[in-house]
Amino acid sequence: YDAKKAGKGQIRTFSPEMLGLPREAILDSALRHALHTDELYLLYQPIVDVQSGEIRKFEALIRWSSKTLGQVPPDQFIPIAEDSDLILEIGEWVIATACAQFAEWNSRFAIGHCVMSINISAAQLKDSRFAAKLQSVLQQHGLQPSQIELELTERVLIDDGDYVRRSLNELNQLGVRISLDDFGTGYSALSYLTKFQIHTLKIDRSFVMRLTENDKLQQLVSSIIMMGQKLGMSLVAEGVETPYQARTLSAMGCDFLQGYLISKPIAAQDMPAFVLSHTGRQTS
Ligand code: C2E
Ligand code: MG
Ligand code: MG
Ligand code: MG
Repeated sequence: YDAKKAGKGQIRTFSPEMLGLPREAILDSALRHALHTDELYLLYQPIVDVQSGEIRKFEALIRWSSKTLGQVPPDQFIPIAEDSDLILEIGEWVIATACAQFAEWNSRFAIGHCVMSINISAAQLKDSRFAAKLQSVLQQHGLQPSQIELELTERVLIDDGDYVRRSLNELNQLGVRISLDDFGTGYSALSYLTKFQIHTLKIDRSFVMRLTENDKLQQLVSSIIMMGQKLGMSLVAEGVETPYQARTLSAMGCDFLQGYLISKPIAAQDMPAFVLSHTGRQTS
């Protein structure tokens, strides 16, 4: 099944009302089906290191090419999966698939110096066996914990159950990196930055997008970068689309850039070549 040929907008032509069911129910049942077929797959988005101009990270991003619904974006189906236990199964599938893929790249190509980031939902951290399961997947594939970064959102840390602290402690013990995704869009209770060991801050695309517009925003982004660095974190800017944004963020001291300017998320088979060939400083 060729995902690229799945018509754009198919999801819009589909009307759940035709079946007399709410959209959520349709998506939920189609998603359960998807897990047992080949409809889910991962793309990988390269992240460039500003200093060296090389790809040093990449983010695994889930895709769903449904036979009945067409291409459904994660912003639509992840929240529905999060309403049930489905997110646990999907989350485990993502970790297993991404780690198997990375291990294969490690053995065939010299990209073991890269860090792979994986998006994690709150419910996954609530699973008391999460860190142990992750550790066993890493061992199974011979991956070092330091090669993996888990992307959490502020909301996960705000939802400050004991489980968050326990899971984060276990993950810190294990040695995987922790990244705070979409930083600045959530509650931004800054004390969380000191409560938990966080290695990376990802500045949300909404800030990067508006960088040209006004001076206050530039000051804000620059302050976020300085704050992150003072706290020993590394900074990734999301959604970098223009050379101006790349230049501005680089000048502010941002460590990594991610966005369409560097690359859109790409298919697994194209990743190693992209990493190995992207050695220039095309982005700034
Ligand atoms: P995210 O983790 O913040 O991922 C970044 C999103 O921005 C991705 O959207 C990516 O394709 C998009 N993006 C990257 N660069 C640019 C750019 O220059 N311009 C624009 N306009 N967009 C850019 P995507 O892949 O649709 O994913 C959306 C969200 O779905 C992700 O946001 C993440 O929260 C969630 N997600 C994706 N994969 C997974 C997964 O495996 N597990 C979980 N729990 N959530 C996932
Ligand atoms: Mg992310
Ligand atoms: Mg993000
Ligand atoms: Mg985002």
